[in-house]
Amino acid sequence: MNETDDRTTLLQLAPDALKEEVVRMGGKPFQAKIVRRNVLEKGRLDYGEMTDLPIRLRDRLTEELPIFSSTLEAEVCAKDGTTKLLLSFPMGRARSGDNPEATGRDLSVETVHMPPLPHQREDADGNERGATLCVSSQAGCPVGCPFCASGLLGLARNLTAHEIVEQYVRGRAVGPLRRSVVMGIGEPLLNFEHLNAALGVVRDEMGLGGRKLTVSTVGFPDRLRKVARMDPKFQLAISLHTPDQEQRDYLVPAMRGVPIEEVLAAGDDWFEVTGREITYEYVLLGGDNDSLGHAQRLSERLRGRRCSVNIIPYNPTPDLPFGRPDVGRAEAFRDALLEGGLIATIRWSRGLDGAAACGQLRLSR
Ligand code: SAH
Ligand code: SF4
Repeated sequence: MNETDDRTTLLQLAPDALKEEVVRMGGKPFQAKIVRRNVLEKGRLDYGEMTDLPIRLRDRLTEELPIFSSTLEAEVCAKDGTTKLLLSFPMGRARSGDNPEATGRDLSVETVHMPPLPHQREDADGNERGATLCVSSQAGCPVGCPFCASGLLGLARNLTAHEIVEQYVRGRAVGPLRRSVVMGIGEPLLNFEHLNAALGVVRDEMGLGGRKLTVSTVGFPDRLRKVARMDPKFQLAISLHTPDQEQRDYLVPAMRGVPIEEVLAAGDDWFEVTGREITYEYVLLGGDNDSLGHAQRLSERLRGRRCSVNIIPYNPTPDLPFGRPDVGRAEAFRDALLEGGLIATIRWSRGLDGAAACGQLRLSR
């Protein structure tokens, strides 16, 4: 529980409800839009700085309407400039999708702000580039991948749309954003309605949209086919991790028994319906799925498909029985994919000295 537990917050209110609140505080209906624009578009987080509003209204807002429902539990900055925010949310009322056994469970999530590396700070015109923000879609994760710190405690509950928007607003307060990935804690397709509503706000009111947003999922085929037909305005990444069925059943337990071919067919369907190519993610686990045989079988599976592969060398999590592949092995794996006719890149992790792998900061508390 935290001190804002029972209070309505600004980001929680839909535009019409905010209008009512503003009028109740003695303001004019149109001033609700100004409040929202100050926070979402301009990034002002102190009502006192909203000089386009009357002082009396600013004072009432300060007293009565907190902007955020989350508490910033920790802010850890790594040497490469990566900042990890640990946010905790109040338990709130039970909602559909919540885990009924989760009462008292950890309702914290991580949001990670990754500015470009020094040699990529400026674009071709000399303008400074913003950061990539990695956001969470659920508090915990029910999928249970054995290599992932986010899933170790299971799912506490789904995040609401405004809790996802909060991560963007808090992340942008660290520094300007260029793009965002939904690759933090949680499985986006298991909380898609709230996520989609949040991404709508981020796109329309914060100006971060379309190709600048990527959602990563383990790829439930039926859900993917459905979302493909909802005019999704983001890029899609599917976490595949292995070309072998038995190994995928182990690495992605919630998809046990779902044939890899069905996941790939849903990916093909996504491309046909949306016209957007997919990225397949492959967490490279030293000694487990990083052999040249794996690379060859993956090439065979993906050959002829319009996609690319993102290899993510594993970030070790204490107490989990998986290791980081060395640089040479990761490069050999990538080269084998390239020789197999695929487009493949390695994504080395950022912020390794700032509580390392995704979900670890949360776990360490
Ligand atoms: N649940 C979604 C999105 C969040 S995880 C999904 O699994 O796709 C985002 C990516 O980070 C996934 O590809 C996941 O496999 C990867 N990942 C999780 N833990 C990791 C770790 N310790 N090191 C490297 N990548 C990791
Ligand atoms: Fe959940 Fe993704 Fe972690 Fe698997 S890798 S437990 S799906 S967050």
